[in-house]
Amino acid sequence: MTQNKGKALIIGAGIAGLSSAYYLLQKGWQVEILEQNDLSNNCSYGNAGMIVPSHFTPLAAPGVVAQGIRWMFDSKSPFYVKPSLSTQLLSWGLKFLKHSNQSHVDRSAQAIRDLNLASSSLYNEIAGKEEFNFELNQNGILMLYKTEKVAEEETELAYKAINLGLSVDILDKKEIQTLEPNVQLDVIGGVNYKCDGHMNPMKLMKQMISYLKNNGVTFHTQHQVTAYETVGNTIKAVIANGNKFSADRFIMTGGSFLPELAQKAGIKIQLMPGKDIPSCILLKIQSTDWNMQHYYWKQE
Ligand SMILES: Cc1cc2nc3c(=O)[nH]c(=O)nc-3n(C[C@H](O)[C@H](O)[C@H](O)COP(=O)(O)OP(=O)(O)OC[C@H]3O[C@@H](n4cnc5c(N)ncnc54)[C@H](O)[C@@H]3O)c2cc1C
Repeated sequence: MTQNKGKALIIGAGIAGLSSAYYLLQKGWQVEILEQNDLSNNCSYGNAGMIVPSHFTPLAAPGVVAQGIRWMFDSKSPFYVKPSLSTQLLSWGLKFLKHSNQSHVDRSAQAIRDLNLASSSLYNEIAGKEEFNFELNQNGILMLYKTEKVAEEETELAYKAINLGLSVDILDKKEIQTLEPNVQLDVIGGVNYKCDGHMNPMKLMKQMISYLKNNGVTFHTQHQVTAYETVGNTIKAVIANGNKFSADRFIMTGGSFLPELAQKAGIKIQLMPGKDIPSCILLKIQSTDWNMQHYYWKQE
């Protein structure tokens, strides 16, 4: 590691904050992290752990609007957004509507693919270090379908993935069954996204925190950033629990709190907290009989 680039202060100890700390450390920065909670619970601990270059379709896409509007007001749906009359929700909603078209999907696909592939390769790099063992498996994720209608939609998407250079197999019922001989599957086929993988997020988070602590990163837990001190357009310090923390660089990784965190510094970010996994219900199979642990059943 090179040394003495200066001090970087990261706000938020989710996977974005910890990964930023990890790579800033490699580049010679002295790193401190401010976290409003303890180090046991945020979105990064409790997700499905899928690493998915195959998810190159942005959420704002044709057809999502009608379904999305129904889902937005259903608290049990995967895309629930707490209703309010806030101008923020209205402004975000209008932008979402404007972008829900095919040209936006086509324009974004390559960039999202590249980001996801880069992310996947960095997970491989971290998994190669002796301090880490977070059950990273790059053995693919299956999209399974039970009807011709869904088969058609999924095959179309699979060909888009193939055209984007991703490693994908379109399989019939027999081929799926061969891949999973220990499970009786009531499906007509599926797509094997061999480019995808999965890991154990809880283990990654815990191991990353230990690694960072052992390598000199300071964590200030139960410290909520409530204000910034700025000179012109530059942030010079943040205030958390009445204390002032100065640094040379500030990295905001507040997850779903990011808009309000950024707003305190006068930065407007169009991000709306909600739940994930549109159009699919995730079925996480724990049984060791399954070769792959992650499957999607496409909803009709
Ligand atoms: C059900 C579900 C399943 C998912 N499955 C997957 C998946 O399979 N694969 C995938 O890649 N992604 C998945 N995701 C998404 C993934 O979990 C998130 O994108 C990721 O965890 C976000 O990380 P983050 O570091 O940005 O935010 P977070 O993990 O939310 O961390 C942000 C941190 O910032 C802190 N913070 C916020 N404001 C302040 C403040 N003012 N002061 C101090 N600290 C502050 C918060 O307390 C929090 O600890 C899933 C999400 C959900 C909900």
